[in-house]
Amino acid sequence: LAAIRTLADIPATQARVRGAAVAVSFEGRDTSYAALDAASNRVAHALRAAGVVAGDRVGVLSKNHDGWYPLFFGAALARACLAPINCRLTAREVGFILSDAAPRLLFVGADFFDTALSAIADLASPPRLVALYGAHPAFERLDAFLADAPATAPAEAPRLEDDVLQLYTSGTTGLPKGVVLTNWTYRRFLELATQVEGFACAAGDAVLTVMPLFHVAGTNLSFTGLAQGGRIVLVKDFAPAEAIATMQRERVAQTFLAPALIGMMLQSPAIEGASFPALRTISYGASPIAEATLRRARAAFGCGFVQFYGMTESAGAGSTLSPGDHDSPGALTSCGKPWPGVEMAILDMDGQFLADGEIGEIAIRGDIMMKGYWNRPEATAETLAGGWLRTGDAGYRDAAGLFHVHDRIKDMIVSGGENVYPAEVENAIAGCPGVVDVAVIGVPDPRWGEAVKALIVPAAGEPPHADAVIAWARERIAGYKAPKSVDFVAALPRNPSGKVLRRELRAPYWAGHGRAVG
Ligand code: ATP
Ligand code: MG
Repeated sequence: LAAIRTLADIPATQARVRGAAVAVSFEGRDTSYAALDAASNRVAHALRAAGVVAGDRVGVLSKNHDGWYPLFFGAALARACLAPINCRLTAREVGFILSDAAPRLLFVGADFFDTALSAIADLASPPRLVALYGAHPAFERLDAFLADAPATAPAEAPRLEDDVLQLYTSGTTGLPKGVVLTNWTYRRFLELATQVEGFACAAGDAVLTVMPLFHVAGTNLSFTGLAQGGRIVLVKDFAPAEAIATMQRERVAQTFLAPALIGMMLQSPAIEGASFPALRTISYGASPIAEATLRRARAAFGCGFVQFYGMTESAGAGSTLSPGDHDSPGALTSCGKPWPGVEMAILDMDGQFLADGEIGEIAIRGDIMMKGYWNRPEATAETLAGGWLRTGDAGYRDAAGLFHVHDRIKDMIVSGGENVYPAEVENAIAGCPGVVDVAVIGVPDPRWGEAVKALIVPAAGEPPHADAVIAWARERIAGYKAPKSVDFVAALPRNPSGKVLRRELRAPYWAGHGRAVG
């Protein structure tokens, strides 16, 4: 690990010590570290031959695919900055990101050829299009693009100040923002993250990556896994029963799952009687987990659980709740303690420190912070005010030093003058019989200003009664936090990092009212 200064060093360093070992397994195809090193070098040479210079953006629009890894490392070696794009976005939204990032080239997976073509239609200077997999007349084939590129390392070394990755935020609260991360960030990230349980692994460990590679959870698990000589078991499309089978067949040692994915796996009949002898840890995070889900998951998987709290703007760094801390009283509602080398604090609206137990905005500090948002100087200045990264999340620190995230400040419901955090209400309702999934929002109310409403996905065959859900909540949380009404829905809108899009759920109720819906 000492030889790895940053992302660009990962393939060559590992190829020297374990060239024949498998770096990535994808759909029955294994790529060795030696092959990954050669492929990354070829991408770097081909990018340079295509006119890419230091600081240029290179886009990717694709589902998870093993072709992503040579792009990550090849772009870093070419001193380009890779800008992955959420492939679940509409062509219009992809067009917005393309005009923001202005990549010189765009690598596209076969599932998104049409999206890419309509997304670039209105661009003044469209990127050169290369097919990452599959073929289409409008896209250059990857093998043709790489045809003359040598497999040797490029002569020019990357610099620490180079922008290496531009990851877009999940777009939960609005349009995604491009977060610029440099080689400095990743040098520090690799030092810190590999000391954290859930990211630390041994050479040869199978690391299941189902989170999208355009999201910080997918990249971080991959980078830490490869930097330690692990074997990435990459999944293109998440399906609960298949994920359970893959974990057993591939003897997966660790993985990262969004709480929504854990919930789906627990609903799957495949979990009955399954055992996971090789599984050491399941990491989870990116959105709140209901305590009931966490308890069931711990029993079903029988491994250690590690919670991560962080955001794209901190390269995913923040706090972790270690496996041991999961047994401390009251800790299951906590997101844990800051990583070594990372500071966290609770600030008031003026940026002053609040005491333990007081609720304010969670702030993160450390040398893993983003350089800034791409093209957004005001948003950058606001978010990085006073040397702290303002997360936009409300929470507090308890006397034991554990942090607790309540929810996004923007999602807080003010009902009759009391503040209600949807995540707490969702957590209380999640264990109610007949509730498969739940989201809580505020809706306009003449008496309370806003009233708490629960949107519930009922279990097939045994839907709960709305009054029973409200009564269940009232037994567990203060009366003013319990929902005043319940609506039943077929499914909740979620983005690829598993977050409920509350702004979409709020919109119909607030049409014609003043409150911004995000
Ligand atoms: P956008 O910034 O575009 O609205 P986003 O904030 O969802 O999208 P990410 O950077 O992927 O984009 O997510 C970071 C956010 O995810 C945090 O600010 C927090 O609200 C939430 N989050 C992350 N980890 C946890 C966790 N362990 N528990 C609760 N919430 C979490
Ligand atoms: Mg955010």
